[in-house]
Amino acid sequence: MTKYIIITGGVVSSIGKGITSASIGRILRSYGLKIGAIKIDPYLNWDSGTLNPYQHGEVFVTYDGMESDLDLGHYERFLDVELPGVSNITTGKVYKSVIEKERNGDFLGACVQIIPHITDEIKSMIRKTADVNNYDVILVELGGTVGDIESQPFLEALRQLRNEEGHDNVMFVHVTFVPYLEAAGEFKTKPTQHSTKELRSTGINPDMIVCRSQNPIDDGLKRKIAHFCDVAIDAVINAQDASSIYEVPLELYKEHVGEFIANRIKLDVDFASANLDQWESIVKSLEKQDTVVKIAIVGKYIELEDSYISIREALIHAAGSLGVNLDVEYIDSDVDALDLDALANVHGILIPGGFGERGVNGKLQAVKYAIANNVPIFGISLGMHSMLIEFGRENGIKDAYSSEFSKNTNITPVIDLIKNQKKIKKMGGTMYLGTHDCRIIKDTKAYSAYNQDLVSERHRHSYEFNTDYREKLEEKGLVVSGTSPDNSSVEIIELKNHLWFLGCQFHPEFKSRPNKAHPLFVSFLDASLRYFEK
Ligand code: GLN
Repeated sequence: MTKYIIITGGVVSSIGKGITSASIGRILRSYGLKIGAIKIDPYLNWDSGTLNPYQHGEVFVTYDGMESDLDLGHYERFLDVELPGVSNITTGKVYKSVIEKERNGDFLGACVQIIPHITDEIKSMIRKTADVNNYDVILVELGGTVGDIESQPFLEALRQLRNEEGHDNVMFVHVTFVPYLEAAGEFKTKPTQHSTKELRSTGINPDMIVCRSQNPIDDGLKRKIAHFCDVAIDAVINAQDASSIYEVPLELYKEHVGEFIANRIKLDVDFASANLDQWESIVKSLEKQDTVVKIAIVGKYIELEDSYISIREALIHAAGSLGVNLDVEYIDSDVDALDLDALANVHGILIPGGFGERGVNGKLQAVKYAIANNVPIFGISLGMHSMLIEFGRENGIKDAYSSEFSKNTNITPVIDLIKNQKKIKKMGGTMYLGTHDCRIIKDTKAYSAYNQDLVSERHRHSYEFNTDYREKLEEKGLVVSGTSPDNSSVEIIELKNHLWFLGCQFHPEFKSRPNKAHPLFVSFLDASLRYFEK
Protein backbone atom coordinates (compact mmCIF):
# COMPACT_ATOMS: atom_id res chain seq x y z
CA MET A 1 0.00 0.00 0.00
CA THR A 2 1.33 3.41 -0.99
CA LYS A 3 1.66 6.09 1.70
CA TYR A 4 1.45 9.78 0.87
CA ILE A 5 3.50 12.74 2.07
CA ILE A 6 1.92 15.99 1.00
CA ILE A 7 4.05 19.10 0.93
CA THR A 8 2.48 22.55 0.96
CA GLY A 9 4.13 25.95 1.11
CA GLY A 10 3.45 29.12 3.01
CA VAL A 11 4.59 32.73 3.50
CA VAL A 12 6.47 33.24 0.23
CA SER A 13 7.12 31.37 -2.98
CA SER A 14 10.58 30.13 -4.00
CA ILE A 15 11.50 28.90 -0.52
CA GLY A 16 12.68 25.59 -1.84
CA LYS A 17 9.66 23.33 -1.45
CA GLY A 18 10.93 21.25 -4.35
CA ILE A 19 14.34 20.73 -2.77
CA THR A 20 12.73 20.00 0.60
CA SER A 21 10.43 17.40 -0.96
CA ALA A 22 13.27 15.84 -2.93
CA SER A 23 15.44 15.75 0.20
CA ILE A 24 12.73 14.06 2.23
CA GLY A 25 12.47 11.53 -0.59
CA ARG A 26 16.21 10.96 -0.56
CA ILE A 27 16.20 10.27 3.19
CA LEU A 28 13.33 7.79 2.88
CA ARG A 29 15.10 6.15 -0.06
CA SER A 30 18.09 5.60 2.17
CA TYR A 31 15.87 3.16 4.16
CA GLY A 32 15.48 1.11 1.00
CA LEU A 33 11.95 2.33 0.19
CA LYS A 34 10.65 2.86 -3.33
CA ILE A 35 9.83 6.55 -3.61
CA GLY A 36 7.80 8.39 -6.22
CA ALA A 37 6.97 12.05 -6.55
CA ILE A 38 4.17 14.15 -7.96
CA LYS A 39 4.23 17.87 -8.59
CA ILE A 40 0.91 19.67 -8.71
CA ASP A 41 0.93 22.96 -10.61
CA PRO A 42 -2.33 24.81 -10.06
CA TYR A 43 -2.09 26.84 -13.29
CA LEU A 44 -4.50 26.31 -16.17
CA ASN A 45 -1.93 25.39 -18.79
CA TRP A 46 -2.20 21.69 -19.61
CA ASP A 47 1.59 21.33 -19.29
CA SER A 48 4.51 23.71 -19.00
CA GLY A 49 5.48 23.32 -22.67
CA THR A 50 3.93 26.61 -23.77
CA LEU A 51 5.27 28.61 -20.81
CA ASN A 52 8.07 31.11 -21.27
CA PRO A 53 11.02 30.10 -19.04
CA TYR A 54 10.68 33.47 -17.30
CA GLN A 55 7.38 32.25 -15.83
CA HIS A 56 8.50 29.13 -14.01
CA GLY A 57 12.05 28.41 -15.16
CA GLU A 58 13.09 25.59 -17.45
CA VAL A 59 10.73 23.08 -18.98
CA PHE A 60 11.85 19.66 -17.77
CA VAL A 61 11.26 16.80 -20.21
CA THR A 62 10.45 13.36 -18.82
CA TYR A 63 11.57 10.15 -20.51
CA ASP A 64 8.05 9.62 -21.87
CA GLY A 65 7.96 13.09 -23.38
CA MET A 66 5.98 15.19 -20.92
CA GLU A 67 6.96 18.85 -20.85
CA SER A 68 6.86 19.38 -17.14
CA ASP A 69 7.76 21.50 -14.15
CA LEU A 70 11.43 21.84 -13.19
CA ASP A 71 10.77 20.30 -9.76
CA LEU A 72 10.57 16.91 -11.48
CA GLY A 73 14.22 17.51 -12.32
CA HIS A 74 15.05 17.93 -8.62
CA TYR A 75 13.19 14.73 -7.80
CA GLU A 76 14.94 12.78 -10.55
CA ARG A 77 18.36 14.04 -9.49
CA PHE A 78 17.82 13.51 -5.76
CA LEU A 79 16.02 10.19 -6.01
CA ASP A 80 18.02 8.93 -9.01
CA VAL A 81 14.86 7.76 -10.76
CA GLU A 82 13.06 8.45 -14.02
CA LEU A 83 9.57 9.76 -13.34
CA PRO A 84 6.70 9.30 -15.77
CA GLY A 85 4.96 12.40 -17.18
CA VAL A 86 1.83 11.68 -15.13
CA SER A 87 3.90 12.85 -12.17
CA ASN A 88 3.06 16.43 -13.12
CA ILE A 89 -0.60 17.28 -12.49
CA THR A 90 -1.96 20.67 -13.55
CA THR A 91 -5.34 22.33 -13.24
CA GLY A 92 -5.40 22.19 -17.06
CA LYS A 93 -5.08 18.38 -17.07
CA VAL A 94 -7.70 17.95 -14.36
CA TYR A 95 -10.31 20.16 -15.98
CA LYS A 96 -9.66 18.84 -19.49
CA SER A 97 -10.20 15.30 -18.32
CA VAL A 98 -13.39 16.15 -16.40
CA ILE A 99 -14.83 18.12 -19.31
CA GLU A 100 -14.03 15.27 -21.73
CA LYS A 101 -15.86 12.86 -19.42
CA GLU A 102 -18.83 15.21 -19.25
CA ARG A 103 -18.95 15.42 -23.07
CA ASN A 104 -18.80 11.63 -23.18
CA GLY A 105 -21.89 11.47 -21.03
CA ASP A 106 -20.05 9.87 -18.11
CA PHE A 107 -21.87 12.10 -15.61
CA LEU A 108 -25.22 12.03 -17.40
CA GLY A 109 -27.88 13.80 -15.39
CA ALA A 110 -25.48 15.23 -12.84
CA CYS A 111 -24.46 18.82 -12.34
CA VAL A 112 -20.67 18.70 -12.73
CA GLN A 113 -18.99 20.55 -9.86
CA ILE A 114 -15.65 21.24 -8.21
CA ILE A 115 -16.70 18.95 -5.38
CA PRO A 116 -16.97 16.04 -6.06
CA HIS A 117 -16.01 15.89 -9.76
CA ILE A 118 -12.83 17.95 -9.83
CA THR A 119 -11.64 16.73 -6.44
CA ASP A 120 -12.36 13.10 -7.42
CA GLU A 121 -10.37 13.56 -10.61
CA ILE A 122 -7.41 14.98 -8.65
CA LYS A 123 -7.44 12.04 -6.23
CA SER A 124 -7.75 9.56 -9.07
CA MET A 125 -4.77 11.09 -10.90
CA ILE A 126 -2.67 10.88 -7.73
CA ARG A 127 -3.71 7.30 -7.02
CA LYS A 128 -3.15 6.18 -10.59
CA THR A 129 0.45 7.37 -10.46
CA ALA A 130 0.92 5.58 -7.16
CA ASP A 131 -0.67 2.31 -8.37
CA VAL A 132 1.06 2.04 -11.72
CA ASN A 133 4.48 2.30 -10.16
CA ASN A 134 3.98 0.44 -6.91
CA TYR A 135 5.65 3.06 -4.77
CA ASP A 136 6.04 2.60 -1.02
CA VAL A 137 5.79 6.33 -0.51
CA ILE A 138 4.80 9.06 -2.89
CA LEU A 139 5.64 12.72 -2.30
CA VAL A 140 2.95 15.09 -3.49
CA GLU A 141 4.16 18.68 -3.71
CA LEU A 142 1.50 21.32 -4.16
CA GLY A 143 2.91 24.29 -6.09
CA GLY A 144 2.18 27.87 -5.09
CA THR A 145 1.42 29.12 -1.62
CA VAL A 146 -1.43 28.19 0.69
CA GLY A 147 -4.16 30.81 0.27
CA ASP A 148 -3.89 31.01 -3.53
CA ILE A 149 -7.35 30.73 -5.09
CA GLU A 150 -6.03 28.26 -7.65
CA SER A 151 -4.84 25.81 -4.97
CA GLN A 152 -8.15 25.43 -3.20
CA PRO A 153 -9.61 22.46 -5.11
CA PHE A 154 -6.29 20.67 -4.65
CA LEU A 155 -6.18 21.29 -0.91
CA GLU A 156 -9.73 20.03 -0.62
CA ALA A 157 -8.87 16.91 -2.64
CA LEU A 158 -5.77 16.29 -0.51
CA ARG A 159 -7.79 16.69 2.67
CA GLN A 160 -10.24 14.09 1.35
CA LEU A 161 -7.36 11.83 0.39
CA ARG A 162 -6.21 11.78 4.01
CA ASN A 163 -9.67 10.82 5.19
CA GLU A 164 -10.05 8.10 2.60
CA GLU A 165 -6.58 6.60 2.88
CA GLY A 166 -6.49 6.96 6.66
CA HIS A 167 -4.56 9.09 9.08
CA ASP A 168 -1.70 6.57 9.30
CA ASN A 169 -1.11 6.64 5.57
CA VAL A 170 -1.13 10.32 4.70
CA MET A 171 0.75 13.21 6.30
CA PHE A 172 1.14 16.89 5.61
CA VAL A 173 4.40 18.82 5.67
CA HIS A 174 4.12 22.60 5.55
CA VAL A 175 7.22 24.50 4.39
CA THR A 176 7.41 28.10 5.58
CA PHE A 177 9.88 30.92 5.87
CA VAL A 178 11.07 32.37 9.18
CA PRO A 179 12.54 35.80 8.44
CA TYR A 180 15.22 37.46 10.53
CA LEU A 181 14.55 41.14 11.11
CA GLU A 182 17.85 42.93 11.22
CA ALA A 183 16.38 46.03 12.89
CA ALA A 184 14.70 44.04 15.67
CA GLY A 185 17.59 41.59 15.90
CA GLU A 186 15.29 38.59 15.98
CA PHE A 187 13.54 35.89 13.98
CA LYS A 188 9.84 36.34 13.39
CA THR A 189 7.45 33.41 13.61
CA LYS A 190 4.24 35.31 12.85
CA PRO A 191 4.27 34.63 9.07
CA THR A 192 4.57 30.90 9.83
CA GLN A 193 1.72 31.11 12.33
CA HIS A 194 -0.47 32.91 9.79
CA SER A 195 0.20 30.57 6.93
CA THR A 196 -0.42 27.55 9.16
CA LYS A 197 -3.69 29.15 10.22
CA GLU A 198 -4.58 29.59 6.56
CA LEU A 199 -3.82 25.92 5.93
CA ARG A 200 -5.86 24.84 8.94
CA SER A 201 -8.81 26.86 7.63
CA THR A 202 -8.99 24.31 4.78
CA GLY A 203 -9.34 21.51 7.31
CA ILE A 204 -5.73 20.41 7.06
CA ASN A 205 -3.53 20.33 10.14
CA PRO A 206 0.13 20.04 9.25
CA ASP A 207 1.99 17.14 10.84
CA MET A 208 5.38 18.72 10.33
CA ILE A 209 6.56 22.27 9.73
CA VAL A 210 9.81 22.82 7.88
CA CYS A 211 11.09 26.31 8.65
CA ARG A 212 13.38 27.76 6.05
CA SER A 213 15.67 30.43 7.46
CA GLN A 214 18.87 32.19 6.58
CA ASN A 215 20.58 31.18 9.85
CA PRO A 216 19.84 28.43 12.37
CA ILE A 217 16.84 28.91 14.61
CA ASP A 218 17.03 27.74 18.23
CA ASP A 219 14.90 25.36 20.29
CA GLY A 220 13.00 28.21 21.98
CA LEU A 221 11.78 29.40 18.61
CA LYS A 222 10.89 25.87 17.56
CA ARG A 223 8.89 25.47 20.76
CA LYS A 224 7.02 28.70 20.01
CA ILE A 225 6.17 27.52 16.48
CA ALA A 226 5.08 24.11 17.80
CA HIS A 227 2.86 25.79 20.37
CA PHE A 228 1.17 28.28 18.04
CA CYS A 229 0.86 25.91 15.09
CA ASP A 230 -0.28 22.92 17.12
CA VAL A 231 2.40 20.44 16.12
CA ALA A 232 4.80 18.34 18.18
CA ILE A 233 8.08 20.01 19.05
CA ASP A 234 10.06 17.36 17.16
CA ALA A 235 7.86 18.11 14.13
CA VAL A 236 9.35 21.59 13.80
CA ILE A 237 12.30 21.21 11.49
CA ASN A 238 14.80 23.87 10.63
CA ALA A 239 16.17 23.97 7.10
CA GLN A 240 18.60 26.84 7.04
CA ASP A 241 20.21 28.06 3.81
CA ALA A 242 22.81 25.57 2.64
CA SER A 243 25.83 26.29 0.48
CA SER A 244 24.68 23.59 -1.94
CA ILE A 245 21.22 22.12 -2.47
CA TYR A 246 22.81 18.67 -2.18
CA GLU A 247 23.51 19.33 1.51
CA VAL A 248 19.82 19.63 2.34
CA PRO A 249 19.09 15.86 2.70
CA LEU A 250 21.95 15.60 5.19
CA GLU A 251 20.74 18.68 7.10
CA LEU A 252 17.21 17.33 7.31
CA TYR A 253 18.51 13.90 8.29
CA LYS A 254 20.33 15.48 11.24
CA GLU A 255 17.00 17.02 12.28
CA HIS A 256 15.55 13.46 12.43
CA VAL A 257 13.07 14.06 9.64
CA GLY A 258 13.27 10.41 8.56
CA GLU A 259 12.40 9.02 11.99
CA PHE A 260 9.55 11.45 12.50
CA ILE A 261 7.96 10.63 9.15
CA ALA A 262 8.49 6.88 9.46
CA ASN A 263 6.83 6.89 12.90
CA ARG A 264 4.04 9.18 11.81
CA ILE A 265 2.93 7.17 8.78
CA LYS A 266 4.02 3.84 10.21
CA LEU A 267 6.66 2.88 7.73
CA ASP A 268 8.20 -0.47 8.41
CA VAL A 269 11.85 0.53 8.35
CA ASP A 270 14.98 -0.09 10.32
CA PHE A 271 16.44 3.32 11.18
CA ALA A 272 19.90 1.83 11.56
CA SER A 273 19.73 0.72 7.92
CA ALA A 274 19.73 4.32 6.61
CA ASN A 275 22.54 4.58 4.15
CA LEU A 276 23.44 8.09 3.10
CA ASP A 277 27.11 7.23 2.40
CA GLN A 278 26.75 7.76 -1.32
CA TRP A 279 25.03 11.08 -0.72
CA GLU A 280 27.77 12.14 1.68
CA SER A 281 30.39 11.41 -0.93
CA ILE A 282 28.43 13.48 -3.46
CA VAL A 283 28.43 16.43 -1.06
CA LYS A 284 32.13 15.87 -0.43
CA SER A 285 32.90 15.93 -4.14
CA LEU A 286 31.27 19.37 -4.34
CA GLU A 287 33.37 20.89 -1.57
CA LYS A 288 35.93 23.59 -2.24
CA GLN A 289 38.72 22.50 -4.60
CA ASP A 290 41.88 24.21 -5.81
CA THR A 291 40.87 24.28 -9.46
CA VAL A 292 37.91 26.26 -10.70
CA VAL A 293 36.69 25.72 -14.25
CA LYS A 294 34.85 28.69 -15.69
CA ILE A 295 32.04 28.10 -18.12
CA ALA A 296 30.00 30.68 -19.99
CA ILE A 297 26.35 29.92 -20.66
CA VAL A 298 25.34 32.09 -23.61
CA GLY A 299 21.56 32.42 -23.75
CA LYS A 300 18.68 34.85 -23.73
CA TYR A 301 16.94 33.82 -20.52
CA ILE A 302 19.88 34.54 -18.25
CA GLU A 303 18.10 36.92 -15.86
CA LEU A 304 16.38 33.89 -14.37
CA GLU A 305 18.97 31.24 -13.55
CA ASP A 306 16.23 28.61 -13.19
CA SER A 307 15.79 28.81 -16.97
CA TYR A 308 18.93 26.71 -17.34
CA ILE A 309 18.75 24.80 -14.06
CA SER A 310 19.31 21.25 -15.36
CA ILE A 311 22.28 22.45 -17.40
CA ARG A 312 23.80 24.16 -14.39
CA GLU A 313 23.27 21.06 -12.24
CA ALA A 314 24.74 18.80 -14.95
CA LEU A 315 27.83 21.04 -15.03
CA ILE A 316 28.06 20.86 -11.22
CA HIS A 317 27.86 17.05 -11.34
CA ALA A 318 30.56 16.88 -14.00
CA ALA A 319 32.83 19.27 -12.08
CA GLY A 320 32.32 17.17 -8.93
CA SER A 321 33.26 14.00 -10.77
CA LEU A 322 36.47 15.66 -12.04
CA GLY A 323 37.38 17.03 -8.61
CA VAL A 324 37.14 20.70 -9.59
CA ASN A 325 34.80 23.54 -8.76
CA LEU A 326 32.57 25.25 -11.25
CA ASP A 327 32.07 28.92 -11.91
CA VAL A 328 29.26 29.73 -14.32
CA GLU A 329 29.08 33.06 -16.08
CA TYR A 330 25.77 33.85 -17.75
CA ILE A 331 26.21 35.91 -20.92
CA ASP A 332 23.30 37.58 -22.64
CA SER A 333 22.93 36.48 -26.25
CA ASP A 334 20.15 38.97 -27.03
CA VAL A 335 22.59 41.70 -28.06
CA ASP A 336 24.03 43.19 -31.24
CA ALA A 337 27.60 42.66 -30.07
CA LEU A 338 28.37 39.79 -27.70
CA ASP A 339 30.54 40.52 -24.66
CA LEU A 340 33.75 39.01 -26.06
CA ASP A 341 35.81 40.18 -23.06
CA ALA A 342 33.63 38.01 -20.84
CA LEU A 343 34.16 35.09 -23.23
CA ALA A 344 37.91 35.61 -23.13
CA ASN A 345 37.73 34.92 -19.40
CA VAL A 346 36.22 31.44 -19.53
CA HIS A 347 37.55 27.96 -20.26
CA GLY A 348 34.51 26.67 -22.08
CA ILE A 349 31.31 27.94 -23.70
CA LEU A 350 27.91 26.30 -23.48
CA ILE A 351 25.04 27.28 -25.76
CA PRO A 352 21.76 26.02 -24.39
CA GLY A 353 18.52 25.28 -26.20
CA GLY A 354 15.87 27.85 -26.94
CA PHE A 355 13.12 28.95 -29.27
CA GLY A 356 12.76 31.75 -31.79
CA GLU A 357 15.14 34.13 -33.47
CA ARG A 358 15.67 36.53 -30.57
CA GLY A 359 19.11 35.94 -29.08
CA VAL A 360 20.42 33.84 -31.95
CA ASN A 361 22.75 36.56 -33.17
CA GLY A 362 24.74 36.43 -29.93
CA LYS A 363 24.87 32.63 -30.05
CA LEU A 364 26.34 32.74 -33.57
CA GLN A 365 29.00 35.20 -32.37
CA ALA A 366 29.90 32.85 -29.53
CA VAL A 367 30.33 29.97 -31.99
CA LYS A 368 32.49 32.15 -34.22
CA TYR A 369 34.66 33.04 -31.24
CA ALA A 370 34.99 29.40 -30.18
CA ILE A 371 36.01 28.32 -33.68
CA ALA A 372 38.56 31.12 -34.07
CA ASN A 373 40.09 30.61 -30.62
CA ASN A 374 39.82 26.83 -30.30
CA VAL A 375 37.77 27.21 -27.10
CA PRO A 376 35.75 24.14 -26.06
CA ILE A 377 32.12 24.68 -26.95
CA PHE A 378 29.06 22.58 -26.22
CA GLY A 379 25.80 23.29 -28.07
CA ILE A 380 22.51 21.79 -27.00
CA SER A 381 19.58 21.64 -29.44
CA LEU A 382 19.26 25.29 -30.56
CA GLY A 383 22.91 25.53 -29.50
CA MET A 384 23.77 22.81 -32.02
CA HIS A 385 21.67 24.60 -34.64
CA SER A 386 23.70 27.77 -34.00
CA MET A 387 26.93 25.80 -34.45
CA LEU A 388 25.79 24.40 -37.79
CA ILE A 389 24.60 27.79 -39.05
CA GLU A 390 27.85 29.54 -38.16
CA PHE A 391 30.03 26.69 -39.44
CA GLY A 392 27.97 26.63 -42.65
CA ARG A 393 28.39 30.38 -43.14
CA GLU A 394 32.15 30.09 -42.64
CA ASN A 395 32.33 27.23 -45.12
CA GLY A 396 30.68 28.31 -48.32
CA ILE A 397 27.00 28.56 -47.32
CA LYS A 398 26.91 32.33 -46.85
CA ASP A 399 23.21 32.59 -46.08
CA ALA A 400 22.95 29.49 -43.88
CA TYR A 401 20.10 29.86 -41.38
CA SER A 402 17.22 28.00 -39.81
CA SER A 403 13.72 27.98 -41.25
CA GLU A 404 12.56 28.40 -37.62
CA PHE A 405 13.72 32.02 -37.87
CA SER A 406 12.97 32.92 -41.46
CA LYS A 407 10.51 31.56 -43.95
CA ASN A 408 12.23 33.61 -46.71
CA THR A 409 13.51 31.73 -49.68
CA ASN A 410 16.72 33.77 -49.66
CA ILE A 411 18.15 31.76 -46.77
CA THR A 412 19.72 28.35 -47.03
CA PRO A 413 17.88 26.23 -44.45
CA VAL A 414 20.71 24.14 -42.99
CA ILE A 415 18.27 23.72 -40.13
CA ASP A 416 14.77 22.77 -41.18
CA LEU A 417 11.51 21.46 -39.77
CA ILE A 418 11.57 17.70 -39.10
CA LYS A 419 9.69 16.14 -42.03
CA ASN A 420 6.78 14.69 -40.10
CA GLN A 421 6.37 17.95 -38.17
CA LYS A 422 5.40 19.83 -41.35
CA LYS A 423 1.68 19.10 -41.08
CA ILE A 424 1.41 20.01 -37.39
CA LYS A 425 -0.45 23.23 -36.74
CA LYS A 426 -1.32 22.87 -33.06
CA MET A 427 0.94 23.99 -30.21
CA GLY A 428 1.57 22.05 -27.04
CA GLY A 429 3.00 18.55 -26.81
CA THR A 430 3.47 18.41 -30.57
CA MET A 431 7.26 18.59 -30.81
CA TYR A 432 9.58 15.60 -31.15
CA LEU A 433 9.62 14.75 -27.45
CA GLY A 434 11.03 12.30 -24.96
CA THR A 435 13.56 9.50 -25.13
CA HIS A 436 14.89 8.31 -28.46
CA ASP A 437 17.91 6.19 -29.31
CA CYS A 438 21.07 7.61 -30.77
CA ARG A 439 23.77 5.56 -32.49
CA ILE A 440 27.26 6.73 -31.59
CA ILE A 441 29.93 6.55 -34.28
CA LYS A 442 33.32 5.16 -33.36
CA ASP A 443 36.53 7.23 -33.24
CA THR A 444 34.74 10.44 -32.29
CA LYS A 445 34.73 12.62 -29.20
CA ALA A 446 31.17 11.47 -28.53
CA TYR A 447 32.31 7.84 -28.56
CA SER A 448 35.24 8.55 -26.25
CA ALA A 449 32.78 10.20 -23.86
CA TYR A 450 30.03 7.57 -23.91
CA ASN A 451 32.07 4.49 -24.75
CA GLN A 452 28.85 2.94 -26.00
CA ASP A 453 27.39 2.21 -29.44
CA LEU A 454 23.81 3.08 -28.58
CA VAL A 455 22.53 5.62 -26.08
CA SER A 456 19.09 7.04 -25.40
CA GLU A 457 18.52 10.70 -24.67
CA ARG A 458 15.61 13.08 -24.19
CA HIS A 459 14.46 15.36 -27.00
CA ARG A 460 12.37 18.49 -27.32
CA HIS A 461 12.52 20.10 -30.73
CA SER A 462 10.78 20.53 -34.08
CA TYR A 463 13.77 21.49 -36.21
CA GLU A 464 16.89 19.53 -37.03
CA PHE A 465 19.98 19.47 -39.24
CA ASN A 466 18.87 19.40 -42.87
CA THR A 467 20.81 16.41 -44.20
CA ASP A 468 20.81 17.89 -47.74
CA TYR A 469 23.85 19.81 -46.45
CA ARG A 470 25.47 16.96 -44.55
CA GLU A 471 27.94 15.88 -47.22
CA LYS A 472 28.93 19.40 -48.13
CA LEU A 473 29.76 20.29 -44.52
CA GLU A 474 31.43 16.94 -43.85
CA GLU A 475 33.82 17.78 -46.69
CA LYS A 476 34.74 20.93 -44.75
CA GLY A 477 35.58 19.09 -41.54
CA LEU A 478 32.22 18.53 -39.89
CA VAL A 479 32.01 15.15 -38.18
CA VAL A 480 28.66 13.49 -37.63
CA SER A 481 29.24 11.45 -34.50
CA GLY A 482 25.70 10.48 -33.57
CA THR A 483 22.61 9.70 -35.63
CA SER A 484 19.18 8.17 -35.19
CA PRO A 485 19.47 4.37 -35.52
CA ASP A 486 18.19 4.56 -39.15
CA ASN A 487 20.77 7.29 -39.92
CA SER A 488 18.03 9.67 -41.12
CA SER A 489 18.57 12.32 -38.42
CA VAL A 490 21.82 13.79 -37.20
CA GLU A 491 21.98 13.74 -33.41
CA ILE A 492 25.57 14.80 -32.63
CA ILE A 493 28.08 16.88 -34.57
CA GLU A 494 31.74 17.73 -33.97
CA LEU A 495 34.59 19.46 -35.77
CA LYS A 496 37.67 17.61 -36.83
CA ASN A 497 40.21 20.32 -36.15
CA HIS A 498 39.04 21.69 -32.87
CA LEU A 499 39.91 21.00 -29.23
CA TRP A 500 36.27 20.22 -28.36
CA PHE A 501 33.39 21.41 -30.52
CA LEU A 502 30.32 19.26 -29.98
CA GLY A 503 26.64 19.87 -30.52
CA CYS A 504 23.80 17.52 -29.76
CA GLN A 505 20.21 17.66 -30.86
CA PHE A 506 18.93 16.16 -27.60
CA HIS A 507 19.07 17.47 -24.02
CA PRO A 508 21.66 15.43 -22.11
CA GLU A 509 21.25 17.64 -19.03
CA PHE A 510 18.01 15.89 -18.06
CA LYS A 511 19.76 12.58 -17.46
CA SER A 512 22.67 13.85 -15.39
CA ARG A 513 22.71 12.81 -11.74
CA PRO A 514 24.96 13.96 -8.89
CA ASN A 515 26.18 10.37 -8.58
CA LYS A 516 26.29 9.78 -12.36
CA ALA A 517 27.57 12.86 -14.15
CA HIS A 518 26.60 12.84 -17.81
CA PRO A 519 29.48 11.68 -20.06
CA LEU A 520 29.15 14.60 -22.51
CA PHE A 521 29.29 17.16 -19.70
CA VAL A 522 32.31 15.40 -18.18
CA SER A 523 34.06 15.30 -21.55
CA PHE A 524 33.26 19.00 -22.13
CA LEU A 525 34.64 20.06 -18.74
CA ASP A 526 37.64 17.82 -19.20
CA ALA A 527 38.42 19.62 -22.46
CA SER A 528 37.79 22.99 -20.79
CA LEU A 529 40.37 22.06 -18.14
CA ARG A 530 42.87 21.20 -20.85
CA TYR A 531 42.19 24.56 -22.47
CA PHE A 532 42.64 26.19 -19.06
CA GLU A 533 45.98 24.49 -18.48
CA LYS A 534 47.25 25.43 -21.91
N1 GLN B 1 13.73 25.76 -31.36
C1 GLN B 1 14.43 24.59 -31.80
C2 GLN B 1 13.50 23.52 -32.30
O1 GLN B 1 12.32 23.55 -32.05
C3 GLN B 1 15.33 24.05 -30.72
C4 GLN B 1 14.58 23.55 -29.53
C5 GLN B 1 15.44 23.39 -28.31
O2 GLN B 1 16.45 24.08 -28.16
N2 GLN B 1 15.07 22.49 -27.46
O3 GLN B 1 13.92 22.60 -32.94
